[in-house]
Amino acid sequence: AYPSSGEPPCVVVGAGLAGSLMAIYMAQRGHSVEVFEARPDMRVRQVDGGRSINLALSTRGLTALAGVGLEEQVREMCIPMRGRMIHPVEGEPHLQPYGRADQFINSISRQGLNELLMTTAEAHEQVRFHFEKPCVDVDLDEGVAHFEDRISRERIAREASLVIGADGAYSAVRQRLQRSGRYNYEQAYLTHGYKELSIPAGPAGEFLMEKNALHIWPRHDFMLIALPNLDATFTVTLFMAFEGEGASFDALKTRAEVDAFFRREFPDAHALMPTLTDDFFENPTGSLVTIRCSPYHHGDRVMILGDAAHAVVPFYGQGMNAAFEDCTVFNALLDREGDDFGRAVAAFTEERKADADAIGHLALYNYYEMRSAVASPYFVFRKRIERVLHRFFPAWWIPLYSMVTFSTMPYAEARARAARQDRMLTVGLIAAVVLMGLMMLALLVALSR
Ligand code: FAD
Repeated sequence: AYPSSGEPPCVVVGAGLAGSLMAIYMAQRGHSVEVFEARPDMRVRQVDGGRSINLALSTRGLTALAGVGLEEQVREMCIPMRGRMIHPVEGEPHLQPYGRADQFINSISRQGLNELLMTTAEAHEQVRFHFEKPCVDVDLDEGVAHFEDRISRERIAREASLVIGADGAYSAVRQRLQRSGRYNYEQAYLTHGYKELSIPAGPAGEFLMEKNALHIWPRHDFMLIALPNLDATFTVTLFMAFEGEGASFDALKTRAEVDAFFRREFPDAHALMPTLTDDFFENPTGSLVTIRCSPYHHGDRVMILGDAAHAVVPFYGQGMNAAFEDCTVFNALLDREGDDFGRAVAAFTEERKADADAIGHLALYNYYEMRSAVASPYFVFRKRIERVLHRFFPAWWIPLYSMVTFSTMPYAEARARAARQDRMLTVGLIAAVVLMGLMMLALLVALSR
């Protein structure tokens, strides 16, 4: 049944974004692969309640997709977003570009991308998918993964040459690692959650807001964002506290309260959301978790990647990109180690941990930046100076957002470099203010003589 070598297959747990991409990488290396997914096949049965959910795809994700020859196909599914379109409560929205004119991030359908990855993986004869078969246990030392058929309740055991846990933030494979000795694990929830809503297309099938932007309504303690879809709709997400004194999900109990809240806080969006109150009460309120753990492997035969290893809050638009980059990094380590899984998985933990921690921190900070800082004139002024510095000294000065989003520089390096740049900019601005003050003083003295 396994054409490559008679070895047991690689077993991938989770046919989400990272699991499906990793299955392609392993198949292209000549390994046989079995992928086990807890949910039904999304190409056949509706998932996520049929809502269209989109994600921002950027350089790291595109690089990983290019590694298996999918970049061109994926680009056709994308809508470029060139900057943040900031919507104040009153007045016209204005665009803050993300970078140079040729730099943009991409809005893509989660389901469309996941389906493409599964179908591409399945086109390799040595790849098999099994749906509705969640992983229930892993024998870490023997490399045997156990699954349960959701319909027949039958138990299935699969010996693997490598078990790859790509089963998301609530990973069963990681939970098994947590029960092994001296395992480091940390999870932290934000006090804020999110709810997905929508803006439909116009009567002639047109976009009702600027198509090529990520729209943000920053309101300090909460925010609304919207990303475009190919069918001219927008997927809108409200991020807000679950409960508390100010605005919160808890405080919005009736249709009238939701309607009044949107009318007051996001008047231009409210005017474009005819199904607002239905969406609000039909769609679940999601929580936002950061997960840090180590190591990402056990012995020679078990590893985790993607959200299973390092779930991050979504505010840098990097969770999927980092999960895809895990695949690129692991593939390069397999190249280096001649497909010795034991050495490659140990090297993966070694190489990836600091970078995963760094993007976890950056993503948390970016929530403050998106919901509050973007509305401050000082923030906009600093960003402008950074863009000018980058234009004149492109190798010496790179804004943090560009390092994270438009490069494959390791996240930890980007974070350290940005901290240095930040200090330099602050010192430079203080020096400029002091210098200007001294010049004014000298002028006043000269005039008074
Ligand atoms: P998942 O996509 O969660 O896939 C895990 C898969 O494993 C699923 O199919 C699940 O059904 C399956 N599974 C779970 N348990 C089991 C089990 N026991 N056995 C078998 N299968 C199992 N990232 C970006 O890069 N850009 C964005 O713009 C962005 N926006 C986001 C917005 C929101 C609101 C949220 C919540 C996240 C966002 N992310 C974004 C993050 C991104 O969604 C995740 O980082 C990404 O989905 C991780 O991929 P994954 O394959 O590791 O996990």
